[in-house]
Amino acid sequence: MRPFRYETVADPAAATAALAQDPGALLIAGGTEVVNWLKEGIVRPTRLLDVSGLPGLGAIDARPDELAIGALVTMADLADCETVRRDYPAVAEALNRSASQQLRNMATIGGNLLQRTRCPYFRAETDLPCNKRRPGSGCAAIGGADRTLAIFGWSEHCVATHPSDLAVALAALDASVTLRGLGGERTVPVAEFYRLPGDAPERDTVLDRGELITAVTVPASATARNSWYLKVRERVSYEFALVSVAAGVQVDEDGTITDARIALGGVAHGPWRLHEAEAALNGVSIDDTPAIASAVNPAFNQAQPRLQNGFKVPLAQRAVLRTLTTAVGAR
Ligand SMILES: Cc1cc2nc3c(=O)[nH]c(=O)nc-3n(C[C@H](O)[C@H](O)[C@H](O)COP(=O)(O)OP(=O)(O)OC[C@H]3O[C@@H](n4cnc5c(N)ncnc54)[C@H](O)[C@@H]3O)c2cc1C
Repeated sequence: MRPFRYETVADPAAATAALAQDPGALLIAGGTEVVNWLKEGIVRPTRLLDVSGLPGLGAIDARPDELAIGALVTMADLADCETVRRDYPAVAEALNRSASQQLRNMATIGGNLLQRTRCPYFRAETDLPCNKRRPGSGCAAIGGADRTLAIFGWSEHCVATHPSDLAVALAALDASVTLRGLGGERTVPVAEFYRLPGDAPERDTVLDRGELITAVTVPASATARNSWYLKVRERVSYEFALVSVAAGVQVDEDGTITDARIALGGVAHGPWRLHEAEAALNGVSIDDTPAIASAVNPAFNQAQPRLQNGFKVPLAQRAVLRTLTTAVGAR
């Protein structure tokens, strides 16, 4: 590990100014990602700016029309919040299926959204080609071990997936992130916050240098209340998703779907929304499994599985069906 300076910052303006001016500066909140990156040589900052004590970013504000979550709220506190468990069950479930209780006690919502891929080549202890980690070095996953990697939206430069469970639930529920930079504040839908890898896979998100996440906002809705998150993984706990689904669904008194929102995790460089399937589900009975499958499955025509991860297509299709019916049952 190389030496670095450690400082606390007093307010968000000081953090954005320091970040914008100093290319060697890196923010640290809960530190559960950053400390691993330091040990693995993924980052080599000269200065760590500790934002964990910043005022005004640590509250959960459950308003009638939306849930406003400060960027420094911990994953554990958000998962335990009664309003979240009742009115946004997909969010609570995604958090409770993430990492471990000890990590959730430390880890923040802002840091969770900015965690980096678990692609084995990105995280390798030896120097392997990885355009995300060392731009221009190539992608060892192409033609390599790609079982856990992307089936949607990958490029010839990167086939990594994004690992945040929470991001998938937030994308399905039309949440947005509030960013604060030197020029002021802006709001970006979570579904647009993550970039496709294209020819610059080193950039995971649209966050600009010097910008801070200050909050996440989730609109309240009947669909959010009838929502669920299903995480499919190699072992039952303490593991990242092979495939995950967040879905919210509203049905009328006859059981006909009137609104559906679906996002997938573990399949792309960020949460992958199934807008086409959502539209096709309108008017379908929640009890008619073949009709639901007919509405959902064409969305997978765009999938481009790689050598070893073709199983993710049927796995995700079945996971969507199960999540939709569980979400209705969660009412
Ligand atoms: C063993 C292990 C298992 C895990 N399993 C899962 C899992 O199953 N599912 C899952 O979703 N996650 C999982 N994680 C990831 C975990 O959720 C993240 O490490 C954690 O959420 C990061 O939050 P943090 O506050 O510790 O971030 P930090 O490590 O402090 O920071 C992470 C990144 O975010 C930046 N950052 C932090 N806060 C802000 C802010 N407010 N504005 C701008 N930038 C900011 C930092 O500069 C850094 O780039 C796992 C982690 C570990 C170590």
